[in-house]
Order: sequence, then C-alpha cells, then structure tokens
Amino acid sequence: MGIAIPFDNSYARLPKGFHASIAPKPLARPEIVKVNYALATELGIDPASLETEEGAAILSGAGAAPGSEPIALVYAGHQFGQFVPRLGDGRALLLGEVVDRNGRRRDLQLKGSGITPYSRQGDGLAALGPVLREYLVSEAMHALGVPTTRSLAIVTTGETVYRKTEFPGAVLTRVAASHIRVGTFQYFAARGEDENLRALADHAIARHQPDAVDAPDRYRRFLEGVARRQGALIARWMLLGFVHGVMNTDNMAVSGETIDYGPCAFLDRYDPATVFSSIDRGGRYAYGNQPAIGQWNLARLAECLLPLLSSVEAEAMEQATGALSLYADAFNETYRQGLIEKIGLPDGDEADTALAEDLLDRMKIGGADFTATFRALAPLAEGTTGAMSEVGFADPSSVREWEEAWRNRLAARNLDPKQVAGSIRRVNPAFIPRNQRVEEVIAAAVENGDFAPFEAFLSVLMRPFDDQPAAARWADPGPVAPYRTFCGT
Ligand code: AMP
Ligand code: MG
Ligand code: MG
Repeated sequence: MGIAIPFDNSYARLPKGFHASIAPKPLARPEIVKVNYALATELGIDPASLETEEGAAILSGAGAAPGSEPIALVYAGHQFGQFVPRLGDGRALLLGEVVDRNGRRRDLQLKGSGITPYSRQGDGLAALGPVLREYLVSEAMHALGVPTTRSLAIVTTGETVYRKTEFPGAVLTRVAASHIRVGTFQYFAARGEDENLRALADHAIARHQPDAVDAPDRYRRFLEGVARRQGALIARWMLLGFVHGVMNTDNMAVSGETIDYGPCAFLDRYDPATVFSSIDRGGRYAYGNQPAIGQWNLARLAECLLPLLSSVEAEAMEQATGALSLYADAFNETYRQGLIEKIGLPDGDEADTALAEDLLDRMKIGGADFTATFRALAPLAEGTTGAMSEVGFADPSSVREWEEAWRNRLAARNLDPKQVAGSIRRVNPAFIPRNQRVEEVIAAAVENGDFAPFEAFLSVLMRPFDDQPAAARWADPGPVAPYRTFCGT
C-alpha cells in the first residue's frame, strides 16, 4: 500500500534565498515509537501506514516521501535581546505542507533529523527525552485549548546523541499552521532584501489572513492580526501558568501558535518571578514578564514591516503603534475574561476581577499551587469545606477570608452551585504536565525503554478538565524542589 501524504509545498516555491534543500540521510535503525492517530487522520494520512519501516524512514529523514521537498528554513532572531542575523532550522527540516480535512494548510516538520546549512556548532540532533517532552507538552496544550504546534510522531534513530553524556537519538514530527517567525521577517529586513520581505509578507497573509490578501492595507491588517493572536495567546499561557522559557523572536510564530517547546514548564507555586530555564539568568522570560516580552517581540516585527506599511514614515509609525496597542487590548481582554471565568464569575465586573487578583496575591504570599487552587474552587462552590486545605497555603486563614468574600459574590448573583462548579471545571484543569511527572515518564522511557508511563500520562492529559479519580497521582505536584529546564537538548 505504501504511504500517501497529500503534499502541496507552498513554502518550497518561495525564492531560493528562503530555504536550503536537504537530502535524506541514511540511518541504521529508525523505529517508530509513537504515532498520533487522531492527528494523522485529521491530516488525511492513514496512521497505520506510518507505523511501518517506510514510515520510520520518512519520519526520521532517512527516506524520501513521495511529494515531499525537504528544506531547512532560514531566519534570524533576537536571542535574549541580542540580534543574531542568521539562525535558521539547525536541526529541523520541513517535509512539506498538506491541506488537512478541514481545509487548513499545515506544515510537517522533522526536528532532530541531522545537520543543515544552518546548524552552526550544533549536531542537528535531538535526544529522546526532550522529544518526549515536546510531544507531551504540546499535545497537553492542545487539549487545554491553547493554539499550538502539534506532535504527529516520534521515531528513535538507533543512534547516540551526546549531551555531556550519551542519550538515545530521536526525531519528532511537528505539525504547525506555519513555521514563519518574527525572526523570518527580521532576516530579510536586516539584509535589506525588500522584494523577499514583501514575498514573505504576502505568503504569510495568504496563510494566516486570507481575507486580507487583496486588501490595499493588507500589511497593516496582517500586523494587527499577529498582534491580536499573540496577545490572546500569551493571555492563555498566563491563565494556565505556562512559562514558555525562551521567547526569542525566532520562537514567536506569526500564526499565533505556541512554538518551540524547549525549556517550558508549568508553574507549581504561584509566583510571577518564576523562571525554569537554566540559561535565563536575568529572568527575562519569567512567567510575569511574558506579556511585556510578547509586545517587545511584536515591536521587532512592526519595525520590519514599516517599509511595507506606508512610504510616509509618520504614517507607518502610527500604524505600528496602533498594532502594539491592539496587542495590549487583546491581551487584557482575554486575560481579564479568563480570570473571572476561573473563579466562576464569567459575567463578573471590575470588583470580581479585583477579587480574582486578590486570590493570586494570597497564593503568592501563601506559596499555593496555581493549578490546584483554582481547581479546588469547584468543590468549594459545591459546599465541600476544606477543599483548599491541600493546595499549599502556608496560612489557611488567609484563603478562608477570601472564600467568604467570594461566596458573597456568588450568593449575590443567585447562581446555582452545581453550574458554578461545572463552569469552574471547564476552565481550570485538573491535569497539566506536572514537572516531576514529566521527568518521571521520560526517565522510564530513556533509561528502561518503558513507554507505558508516557502513554498513561498522555492519555490523562488528553482530558485535562475531567476529574479522573483513578489518575489522581498525575495531578499531585510531588515534592516541589527547585526545577530546572534546558534548551537545545
Ligand atoms: P532554540 O533555542 O531551540 O530556539 O534554537 C535556537 C537555534 O539553535 C535555532 O536556529 C536552532 O535550529 C538551533 N539549534 C538548537 N539546537 C541545535 C542542534 N542540536 N543542532 C543544530 N542547531 C541547533
Ligand atoms: Mg527555536
Ligand atoms: Mg528549541
């Protein structure tokens, strides 16, 4: 039967300066260890066909799929505030694009498939641990309702990757609305390649804002679209306690999807200063800095687009400034609404927003667990006293005080407790990729070749808003030791 992937590769049709062709690289023993059946089906690919020798070859970069045109994409980026004029896919390659069953164009990209012209000092490879981590966290984010790149498959390469010590090598197949980054625009803008910049913008508009393709003000509308998507996206991260960890401009997709799951992690204790990444020494990408960094990154995109916005500089500047404030509006709106929904008051007013913020303040002072505290509001709304006793508040009386104020707001509205609890459960997950649990399932797979814990955790994370009594251990934060994550591993 063989593998049939309905490729249609629009990025490969862009001019030569956008990408480099990558030849297949033979591997001794590529083996499929995971295929995302639901996602493959959505893409119009027979999932079982991928679980074959041919599938393992194609999804590791060792074999060529019919219709695929493997390329590495070039881009630039600000890394921790420093501009690097050329980064690019150093260990990734775009197999091509497919139009899925819902008519959406999606990139199929391999990550960890070997060196490219953009590998610099790197080996182009990925170790199994970080690949499992990206699969788990990106699929969890999707189940949590956050726009994100997805994970289609994992192949182990049978080769060894060196990261201080030896690890099994692996390749992740990532699916994205596109891999166009702020850094892609920066690459052409910094080189003064105006034609390419325009071609990139038109390509991005066709993919992410098709209704603006023929509009005379399409570049302004594109920038505003990116602003809205990014503002809303980062608000969703904040509402779930997600810390991206490496919000460099090359890791910010203009599609509005979360991209590049390197050193990301979820908060356990609520503290806006939380940083997990071992290389983020200044806390630039701390949880609480994410909204401001998103706007800083957007400003870098706006700078690139200035020449396209208007030939009159003052007009271009005005449009750019307008887009930056749209970002702030989109962020604030999504965040405020999300916050009152989290405390079961979706129609709430300013006072209710203040009430939710007051809970956050108490969580910070009390060292409470972000996810568990909000989830505990559901049984609390149903009258279960003591629901807050196990979420980590150092001084339980401070949250009891808050509870009383909250109950008064609910009572004043005459809301049905069951409905309030239901609405709280719909937005506050019981299950997130808890740091200790992620490490535990990775260790089992990497050290013992045991993928059962990975599969078990994954299936729990696919229903994050359902109470799953048999899965309680996956919700347990465990001993909250200082947690460190690593990039580029
Ligand atoms: P990241 O921090 O993951 O966004 O990666 C930054 C840049 O480093 C990108 O251009 C990556 O393609 C590149 N890179 C990361 N890890 C490797 C590696 N092992 N080999 C080659 N390039 C890499
Ligand atoms: Mg990156
Ligand atoms: Mg990365």
